[in-house]
Amino acid sequence: MKDTEGTHGHTMATTAHEAYAFACLHCGHAWEQAYEIEHHVDNNNRPFILYFADGERVPSPLTRLTCLNCGEHNVRIMRAGRANAALSAQAAQRRSPHP
Ligand SMILES: [Zn+2]
Repeated sequence: MKDTEGTHGHTMATTAHEAYAFACLHCGHAWEQAYEIEHHVDNNNRPFILYFADGERVPSPLTRLTCLNCGEHNVRIMRAGRANAALSAQAAQRRSPHP
Protein backbone atom coordinates (compact mmCIF):
# COMPACT_ATOMS: atom_id res chain seq x y z
CA MET A 1 0.00 0.00 0.00
CA LYS A 2 2.98 2.34 0.57
CA ASP A 3 4.78 2.23 -2.74
CA THR A 4 1.83 2.33 -5.06
CA GLU A 5 0.19 5.22 -3.28
CA GLY A 6 0.58 8.34 -5.35
CA THR A 7 2.27 6.61 -8.26
CA HIS A 8 0.13 4.47 -10.50
CA GLY A 9 -2.08 3.17 -7.71
CA HIS A 10 -4.50 6.01 -7.73
CA THR A 11 -4.71 6.61 -11.44
CA MET A 12 -5.94 3.06 -11.95
CA ALA A 13 -8.77 3.42 -9.49
CA THR A 14 -12.15 4.57 -10.62
CA THR A 15 -14.96 5.30 -8.25
CA ALA A 16 -18.58 4.70 -9.02
CA HIS A 17 -21.56 5.71 -7.01
CA GLU A 18 -24.32 3.19 -6.85
CA ALA A 19 -27.40 2.99 -4.72
CA TYR A 20 -29.05 -0.32 -4.09
CA ALA A 21 -32.45 -1.16 -2.78
CA PHE A 22 -32.84 -4.20 -0.57
CA ALA A 23 -35.90 -6.13 0.37
CA CYS A 24 -35.94 -8.91 2.93
CA LEU A 25 -38.10 -11.82 1.85
CA HIS A 26 -38.16 -13.09 5.41
CA CYS A 27 -39.61 -10.16 7.34
CA GLY A 28 -40.50 -7.71 4.58
CA HIS A 29 -38.03 -5.07 5.69
CA ALA A 30 -36.91 -2.79 2.85
CA TRP A 31 -34.14 -0.25 2.77
CA GLU A 32 -31.76 1.56 0.47
CA GLN A 33 -28.06 2.13 0.75
CA ALA A 34 -25.74 4.22 -1.37
CA TYR A 35 -22.28 2.87 -2.01
CA GLU A 36 -19.05 4.24 -3.30
CA ILE A 37 -17.50 1.50 -5.33
CA GLU A 38 -13.79 1.74 -6.03
CA HIS A 39 -12.38 -0.31 -8.83
CA HIS A 40 -8.74 -1.10 -8.33
CA VAL A 41 -6.15 -3.21 -10.06
CA ASP A 42 -3.54 -4.96 -7.97
CA ASN A 43 0.12 -5.41 -8.86
CA ASN A 44 -0.72 -8.55 -10.82
CA ASN A 45 -3.28 -6.68 -12.91
CA ARG A 46 -6.12 -8.41 -11.17
CA PRO A 47 -9.12 -6.21 -10.61
CA PHE A 48 -10.60 -5.88 -7.17
CA ILE A 49 -13.37 -3.76 -5.82
CA LEU A 50 -13.76 -1.94 -2.55
CA TYR A 51 -17.15 -0.91 -1.24
CA PHE A 52 -17.74 2.06 0.99
CA ALA A 53 -21.00 3.04 2.60
CA ASP A 54 -21.19 6.35 4.42
CA GLY A 55 -17.41 6.56 4.24
CA GLU A 56 -16.91 3.18 5.91
CA ARG A 57 -15.38 0.17 4.28
CA VAL A 58 -18.06 -2.50 3.98
CA PRO A 59 -18.21 -5.98 2.51
CA SER A 60 -19.66 -6.33 -0.94
CA PRO A 61 -23.43 -6.04 -0.78
CA LEU A 62 -23.62 -8.39 -3.73
CA THR A 63 -21.98 -11.33 -1.99
CA ARG A 64 -23.14 -10.93 1.57
CA LEU A 65 -26.70 -9.87 2.04
CA THR A 66 -27.98 -9.66 5.55
CA CYS A 67 -31.27 -8.18 6.61
CA LEU A 68 -30.67 -5.27 8.95
CA ASN A 69 -33.90 -6.05 10.71
CA CYS A 70 -34.01 -9.81 11.27
CA GLY A 71 -30.50 -10.93 10.32
CA GLU A 72 -31.69 -13.42 7.74
CA HIS A 73 -29.86 -13.75 4.43
CA ASN A 74 -32.95 -14.11 2.35
CA VAL A 75 -32.57 -10.63 0.93
CA ARG A 76 -33.29 -9.43 -2.54
CA ILE A 77 -31.14 -6.69 -4.04
CA MET A 78 -32.18 -4.28 -6.75
CA ARG A 79 -30.48 -1.37 -8.36
CA ALA A 80 -32.02 1.67 -6.75
CA GLY A 81 -33.53 4.06 -9.23
CA ARG A 82 -33.95 1.36 -11.81
CA ALA A 83 -37.54 0.74 -10.82
CA ASN A 84 -38.17 4.48 -10.94
CA ALA A 85 -36.62 4.75 -14.40
CA ALA A 86 -38.76 1.90 -15.65
CA LEU A 87 -41.86 3.48 -14.16
CA SER A 88 -41.20 6.92 -15.67
CA ALA A 89 -40.49 5.33 -19.06
CA GLN A 90 -43.87 3.62 -18.84
CA ALA A 91 -45.49 6.86 -17.78
CA ALA A 92 -43.91 8.70 -20.71
CA GLN A 93 -45.36 6.17 -23.10
CA ARG A 94 -48.78 6.47 -21.58
CA ARG A 95 -48.62 10.24 -21.74
CA SER A 96 -48.96 10.31 -25.53
CA PRO A 97 -52.13 8.46 -26.42
CA HIS A 98 -53.01 10.92 -29.16
CA PRO A 99 -50.02 11.79 -31.33
ZN1 LIG B 1 -35.58 -9.45 7.50
